Amino acid sequence: MAYQVLARKYRPQVFEEVIRQTHITQTLSNALVSGRLAHAILFAGPRGTGKTTVARILAKCINCEAGPTAIPCNKCRSCKEIKNSNATDVFEIDGASNNKVEHIRELRENARYMPAHSPYKIYIVDEVHMLSDAAFNALLKILEEPPDHVMFFFATTEPTKIPITILSRCQRHDFRRVEIDALIEHMALICRKEEIEINEEGLSLIAREADGSVRDALSLLDHIMACAVDNIDTRTILDVLGGVDRRDLFSVSEAVLQGKTGAVLEIIDSCYRRGQHMTKLFSEIISHFRNLLVVKMGGSADTLADIPRHEIEAIRKQVADIPATYLNQILDVLFKEEATIKYATQPKLALEMAFLRILQIKPALSLETLIEKLDLLRHEFDKGGAAAHISDPVYPQPATDDNESAAPSDERQASVNETNENRETQAEAVESEPPGQEEAAGEATPDQTERTSEDHWQCILKTISETQPSLGACLSSGCIKGIQDDQIEIEMPSNQFHMNWVSKDKNRKILEKVCRRHFNRKMEILITGQEAQPAESGHINKKETQHLKQEALNHPMVEAAMKLFQGKIIEVKIL
Ligand SMILES: [Zn+2]
Repeated sequence: MAYQVLARKYRPQVFEEVIRQTHITQTLSNALVSGRLAHAILFAGPRGTGKTTVARILAKCINCEAGPTAIPCNKCRSCKEIKNSNATDVFEIDGASNNKVEHIRELRENARYMPAHSPYKIYIVDEVHMLSDAAFNALLKILEEPPDHVMFFFATTEPTKIPITILSRCQRHDFRRVEIDALIEHMALICRKEEIEINEEGLSLIAREADGSVRDALSLLDHIMACAVDNIDTRTILDVLGGVDRRDLFSVSEAVLQGKTGAVLEIIDSCYRRGQHMTKLFSEIISHFRNLLVVKMGGSADTLADIPRHEIEAIRKQVADIPATYLNQILDVLFKEEATIKYATQPKLALEMAFLRILQIKPALSLETLIEKLDLLRHEFDKGGAAAHISDPVYPQPATDDNESAAPSDERQASVNETNENRETQAEAVESEPPGQEEAAGEATPDQTERTSEDHWQCILKTISETQPSLGACLSSGCIKGIQDDQIEIEMPSNQFHMNWVSKDKNRKILEKVCRRHFNRKMEILITGQEAQPAESGHINKKETQHLKQEALNHPMVEAAMKLFQGKIIEVKIL
């Protein structure tokens, strides 16, 4: 018997067997049961996702002797005929080759006659968007008043090319791309039935190449089975598909994230030697870094990133200590280099250059780290050691080959830790102020009842600003809303950043300590957000805005920060 390709051999015969299109099969089943099936149905979606398969099953459901039913018997004359593609009452028409008006006129003529032995005459028109304008007009005539015994099922990959007059007369169902995991599962099932052994990694390679199409996946599987009968390993599959080894992608990202220039170049070279197409490798690398970023950003990584589950875990591990901003920077460069690599006469060289550029990126620091550094800077100034500190490089430099063990993330962490240690010391300093000073603060207590909340607030702010300038500056936009016996309510403007910063455990503790000292008793801190002010009241006139901006630009801290980060001012915003 002639070999039957897998896609035909395992073509679903009932709705239940259709892969991952339950939103359609379920709707159709319900419509069949309730007798609300439209006379014209449009199936739209990417190729190989099951449009004509569902159209054939639906034809069986309607014309089955037991029908209309949601589960065709697959035994009666009608079902068997449709299954073998020789049904007398079901016509499969290829829209691409029968796109002329004459073809549709012929169809209309034919449709007038009653079906031979089934309840309905069914026309399945594939690639219906290929019809000419005149053909669509001819089709419209019959769709406007279809004979009771006629049904039309249209399939298309490009529904936007179909005239609205036709669309509006069809019940439309949109097919989805099949996820990689579902393709792997389906191929694994077929491999078991065919008694072929391919590991999950191999199947995942085929699934990626199929790009959501079941038919493509099975065709590739056919192809691979024909090329390698005995031993189908990952290498064989890669050779047949000409695909990119996923391990190479992970090695590239690992090397980039650790700043190992030599390793990156070696991997590119090894791919090149294996005959890997550099443009394809590059586009896979972009998708891979995109996946790294998506997984790093958390959320629904499983649905966003179309990658098998085992890879998501590996990615999670790889990006654990890498800030999302750094991945963003890498992606920026990759996208900028895309056109260069695509049109380069020496794509390998262009690819290498792109990575050398990436490896020169200075990882961006998070806003919180920046603030910590500014506080640190202030203290360095106070101690008179600022000059020495400014000359130190503050950016975590990507490790070079000479210093491969120190990943940027390690350095960054070390830097933050250093800052934190410093902060701890300051916090302790607040706690262990000399008793004299505490009394000095206490001296103000006799008339505390007469002091206004604003007086208390200013006093507290002053104490905090001495050791924690950024926290002081942040708090200065707030105010005391109420003071109870052992509770102080602080109202902050409705600015998420300020709220988060003040509410941080460390900062809240500092605030508690200062308040305890100020009021001579333990105070519970309650931080609330201010309701948003109406636009008019928050309005600052233009002159005042200019003045504020100028003041910020001239501030010594800003100047010092520019020196420290070797940066420049791009924009001044009033918060
Ligand atoms: Zn049947």
